[in-house]
Amino acid sequence: MKQLAEFCSSLKTDFIPKQRNPSMPVRCWSEKDVLEGNIVDAYVIIFRTEGCSWALQSGCTMCGYFNDSRWDTVSDEHLLTQFGKAMEGYHHEPLVKIFTSGSFLDDNEIPSSVQQQILQRLFETASKVSVESRPEFVTSTKLSVIKKIAGNKTFEVGIGLETANDELRECAINKGFTFADYKKAATLLHKHGFLCKTYVLIKPPFLTEKEAINDCMETVKKISSYTDTISFNPTNVQRRTLVEYLWKRKQYRPVWLWSVIDILTKSAQITKARIKCDVAGGGSIRGAHNCKTCDRNILDHIAVFSLSNDLKEFADIDCSCKQIWLDHLNIEDLGFGSLITMGE
Ligand code: SF4
Ligand SMILES: [Zn+2]
Repeated sequence: MKQLAEFCSSLKTDFIPKQRNPSMPVRCWSEKDVLEGNIVDAYVIIFRTEGCSWALQSGCTMCGYFNDSRWDTVSDEHLLTQFGKAMEGYHHEPLVKIFTSGSFLDDNEIPSSVQQQILQRLFETASKVSVESRPEFVTSTKLSVIKKIAGNKTFEVGIGLETANDELRECAINKGFTFADYKKAATLLHKHGFLCKTYVLIKPPFLTEKEAINDCMETVKKISSYTDTISFNPTNVQRRTLVEYLWKRKQYRPVWLWSVIDILTKSAQITKARIKCDVAGGGSIRGAHNCKTCDRNILDHIAVFSLSNDLKEFADIDCSCKQIWLDHLNIEDLGFGSLITMGE
């Protein structure tokens, strides 16, 4: 949708990227994750790159990752120096997760030879390496090369599908690819013996809370046979995005944590895929939140559920704000999706 793309682009026209050291990764840390059904240590590396090629053109309506990008070429040497720095904190965690705030498999962002050197080094010790990519960079040629490096080890690509609904992805998210593109990439991954993780966005802009829940459920049904893991991302309000533009005008409220629990619960009942949910900014006014009193407790339960996928995690959660959420679901249509809770 041309107008939406132009609007997303216009939000970045006077953006001046901060001067950042191209030799240093954005961040690295160790956390818990699941590997073949067991909870293990996972090492996370976020590379600083030129930025997502799609964000440099217009970008998705909720994505502010470009705020961390260089918007300037990052040489092979710089990328490998970043990797070297990152490896100083690596303690042979069996799972390594790589983020670039874009696509690891995009040769313009991370040149092919650098991708290969990084994977070669990681697969010497790690059992599984996970990266992210838009589907257009998931090609047979690329995957065949990686297969030679990975051998029998596990390689996973996370794709930000967001929703299985093409109209919504185009008109509310400005994602720039179709459900068919995603299905093709997921099929190619499996053909090469790799895993597919699918990111699903909870509550894109312009949707009511109820519509957002329904969209997630429809999406889960449609992607279950294509994905090994479904990672739900509740939209948070990031700088210089259309979501922030709406939020500042009280036309967007980040999703309730009750809705997140509802989606996770229903999803676990209808899919065999592993379910995760990282609630970035959870409990803050810019992230998924309830009433402040129950936020921390619920976020902790969601984090544990993401490791266990055990619905018992949500069995005893309650708070008086649950009724407000239910009322919100009942009357939000009258507010054209912009219903904001009193005091927010
Ligand atoms: S969500 Fe992904 S594809 Fe969209 S602009 Fe951000 S990094 Fe790029
Ligand atoms: Zn509450």
